[in-house]
Amino acid sequence: MTRDPRYDILFEPVKIGPVTAKNRFYQVPHCTGMGWLRPRMLAAMRKVKAEGGWGVVCTEYNSIHPSSDDLPHPSASLWDDNDIRAHSLMTDAVHQHGALAGAELWYGGARTPNLLTRITPMDVGSFPNLAGHPLQTRAMDKEDIRTFRRWHRRAAIRARDAGFDIVYVYATHGYLLSNFLNPRINTRCDEYGGSLENRTRLVRELIEETREAIGDRCAVAVRFAADDKIGEDGEPVFGERRDMLAMLADLPDLWDINISDYSVEMGASRFIKEAPLEPYMSWVRSVTTKPVVTVGRFTSPDTMARQVRSGIVDLIGAARPSIADPFLPKKIEEGRLSEIRECIGCNVCYSGDSIGVPIRCTQNPTMGEEWRRGWHPESLPPKTSHARVLIVGAGPAGMEAARALGQRGYEVMLAEAGRDLGGRVTREAKLPGMREYIRVRDYREQQLRKMANVEVFRESHMSAADVFEVDASHVVIATGSNWRPELFDGERFLPAYDPEAAAHVLTPDEIMDGKLPAGPTLVFDGDGYYMGGVIAEHLHAAGLQVTYATAYDSVSNWSGNTGDRARIRRHLTQLGIPLLTARTLKGFDGIEAVLRGTYGGTDERIAVGHVVMVTGRTPNDRLYRELKDEAGNSDLPFTLTRIGDCEAPAIIAAAILSGHRYALALDTTVDIDSEPLRDRVEITCGDKNPKGLTSVPAPTPRHGR
Ligand code: ADP
Ligand code: SF4
Repeated sequence: MTRDPRYDILFEPVKIGPVTAKNRFYQVPHCTGMGWLRPRMLAAMRKVKAEGGWGVVCTEYNSIHPSSDDLPHPSASLWDDNDIRAHSLMTDAVHQHGALAGAELWYGGARTPNLLTRITPMDVGSFPNLAGHPLQTRAMDKEDIRTFRRWHRRAAIRARDAGFDIVYVYATHGYLLSNFLNPRINTRCDEYGGSLENRTRLVRELIEETREAIGDRCAVAVRFAADDKIGEDGEPVFGERRDMLAMLADLPDLWDINISDYSVEMGASRFIKEAPLEPYMSWVRSVTTKPVVTVGRFTSPDTMARQVRSGIVDLIGAARPSIADPFLPKKIEEGRLSEIRECIGCNVCYSGDSIGVPIRCTQNPTMGEEWRRGWHPESLPPKTSHARVLIVGAGPAGMEAARALGQRGYEVMLAEAGRDLGGRVTREAKLPGMREYIRVRDYREQQLRKMANVEVFRESHMSAADVFEVDASHVVIATGSNWRPELFDGERFLPAYDPEAAAHVLTPDEIMDGKLPAGPTLVFDGDGYYMGGVIAEHLHAAGLQVTYATAYDSVSNWSGNTGDRARIRRHLTQLGIPLLTARTLKGFDGIEAVLRGTYGGTDERIAVGHVVMVTGRTPNDRLYRELKDEAGNSDLPFTLTRIGDCEAPAIIAAAILSGHRYALALDTTVDIDSEPLRDRVEITCGDKNPKGLTSVPAPTPRHGR
């Protein structure tokens, strides 16, 4: 297959100061939950992106000094020579594939609590920590600013020495430099506060000093917000941003533009669709002669080519699309568009950094597993036997297992009870805002269609007897799970309703099957992820009077990790859905529901005729158990494995991982879970006195950086 000439423009080289990107595909800095803690995992992951055709591959945020420490969120760092060595693992790997490597220098200021280093955070003034920690910053005096500039310069030199080609001055996302630029936060009376010129002084100095230190070899990029804030009407308020950018217009070699509202820039697909930054970008390229990049969860090459042709950007920035499909550029280049694994905008990738653990991706199960499991998003080890595999259930787990086994060359039979493939994603994608989740199914269905060795049997509900009739060497049960109507009280699932009210208690499955309550309804969310809020919205859209109650302190509590909890709450509030938090369902008699406050107070009675329980799920493992019981596992004429929600209900990403892991483990002697799961520096004998720990060498003090 060859490239469609309409996309030729995406493969033009772009000069960025002293370096040249081979094409316009630019993986912008994005967090990974790995940072300085997991350098080998990180290097292997970025390498795969370079291999997949990205012209530029950047790091995540790189702390320039221990006084900017974001743990438990693992940033990268450029504190010392160890960091140079760690980063060079990545830059070497990225360069091997002809891509440029970029490093984003970062200083968190009032956003970092410094819980590891316990150094007092400093910022433009003394004010409360912007991430909610109970502490204030020290106001930087002029000596602090001089010291900070020295740290930044040294980190830039380290970045160059580590082999980076592009080095960032990071002046956005509410970190130190954006606070200096912000007239509402920066109330200084010296030459770093007040006028526009004064507030931009520090950023200007850093650009100039970075250029002076490393500009002969590295490009200097600036990450900058195009707007000041989002107005009450939802429209961008540009304020003085245009003047600010114009003052610095041609100083850096590249402008990496984003916006003030992270929940739009990094918006979940439930609310934010492709290219949401376009309205913000209208003026940017007219005030600078330097190349401009921005993001937009671009997965359509048509949108990308249009962005370049219409002069909005020079480079196509991507974080999530490069996570979901590290080979996106190669697939466009080779005309393999149907093979693109499109990002679904679920933001599970982002949850890794939020929680402080390595990244994972719903669409791409190999993300983060490149080093520790040796997985690759495109090439899978060929089959090592002529085994036939029967997979029962074509939800995310079954489809991914079939796809990966098919790609390995196995003969696969995929039996699905329903007419449609996709299992839960096919059902959930019909709920409000969830349309893009269908990409989980569509990508896999497209691939399965091309595989002559995979047969798909629709409308084939399999019983244990049916399974025995199939001549398979391996049987995989991927029959999913069902929502259950009871309440989980922390120990047991209990019905929270009178027996005679049972017919008035529904589950999300029944709602997705098209059942609608008649009259006022309570959605009780004990699950705490997206389902409760989405079901409430769905019922509201159907014209019902809906109340949402949750046992958690927040609406859709876990969505705080995917960055959309606040937006979900705002959205449901705007719809007029009453939201009750920190309430437990104590009873329901078909006429009213009783809610008890987690923190005491009197019980509330709400007049509702129906309750939808979004609490827990039952694994649909009957078939698995029947087969197991049939003969005792050793006597079965096939191996028997359950995967996905049938094994243990979890998020879609876990079902995909489960299917992939099964497919990779088949016929190998490697215990897939005993592989090196940790990426840590080995402790050598010399580090430890065999008689005790007292003589472990003290670390060299690192002052005055
Ligand atoms: P997962 O998330 O683990 O992939 P899903 O619930 O999304 O699970 O999908 C399970 C799929 O299995 C559904 O499409 C369902 O129709 C199918 N299924 C369940 N039981 C059987 C069965 N006995 N035979 C064939 N398909 C089944
Ligand atoms: Fe996209 Fe979800 Fe993967 Fe993140 S986890 S890259 S949002 S599919």
